Amino acid sequence: MKRIGVLTSGGDAPGMNAAIRSVVRKAIYHGIEVYGINYGFQGLIDGDIRKMELGSVGDIIQRGGTMLYSARCEDFKTEEGQLKGIETLEHYGIEGLVVIGGDGSFRGAEKLTERGYPCIGVPGTIDNDIPGTDFTIGFDTALNTISEAIDKIRDTATSHERTYIIEVMGRDAGDLALWAGLADGAESVLIPEAEDTIEDVIDRLKRGNERGKRHSIIIIAEGYGSGVDFAREIEEKAKLETRVTVLGHTQRGGSPSASDRVLGSRLGAAAVDILRKGSAGRMVGIQNNEIVDHDIVEVLSQKHHIDLDMYRLSKELSI
Ligand code: ADP
Repeated sequence: MKRIGVLTSGGDAPGMNAAIRSVVRKAIYHGIEVYGINYGFQGLIDGDIRKMELGSVGDIIQRGGTMLYSARCEDFKTEEGQLKGIETLEHYGIEGLVVIGGDGSFRGAEKLTERGYPCIGVPGTIDNDIPGTDFTIGFDTALNTISEAIDKIRDTATSHERTYIIEVMGRDAGDLALWAGLADGAESVLIPEAEDTIEDVIDRLKRGNERGKRHSIIIIAEGYGSGVDFAREIEEKAKLETRVTVLGHTQRGGSPSASDRVLGSRLGAAAVDILRKGSAGRMVGIQNNEIVDHDIVEVLSQKHHIDLDMYRLSKELSI
């Protein structure tokens, strides 16, 4: 392979830049030219492409977001869009493509591979919702951002007798909520994968109050429901004063953690190695601290599973 491309697609995640840098430098190290495609699959359709040099990816490892920008592109879901994308790639003589993104982006990569165009997926999303990898790029940074925010909320919480509800991201996955719950000692964690009801939460709040707890922190995953609605229900049913914080897009930003920079670097390089071997339609990941790769179709057909032992632990530790 003489020339490859790289793009980031879907929701951005801190650490994507480290992955781009790694793809570019690893490829150039092996004598392969690299083209960066701006705005994900939209850029592929529009021909928004630039050649990447060693210096193009200097000074980005510490930056959040993605230097190649990202976009959602409905046109790429059509045959016409995909063929237009392949036309662009062929025009530039690009023989393989690294797609950094979430499961939606992998569906695009899979479509290209099906049409005979070799793609490799690199999991980049703060949600940690991709099967076949223990961690996705961006999850650790987002978790630390949440943790810092909750520490601050806890400071004010200790000054008032209130219940604090914090809504965190994660789409349909509860990983960010669960890990944040453990990291921050939350009284309750509500995730879509478990079936805690408002009554369970109120019972715990009441038990806490009886023990003299002056405040409580409840973390709710966006996939479970709305923090604002949940707070209203708690106020009505338990007659407790509540405050809600929806952390929103602060969770997606910021300088990537060291861990995400290392993960991005390892996975980006692994994707280049797989293309060099002549494989296609694979997703790279990390499992038990080993770099692995899986058939992307298989990844897309599986469901992400949360660690329910961790969920039980979070309950045991917040009795
Ligand atoms: P993420 O990659 O973060 O899950 P999305 O689900 O928004 O984000 O997907 C990102 C992009 O991937 C979409 O805007 C679209 O261009 C492309 N994509 C998603 N699903 C498909 C599909 N079934 N076929 C082709 N391309 C797709």
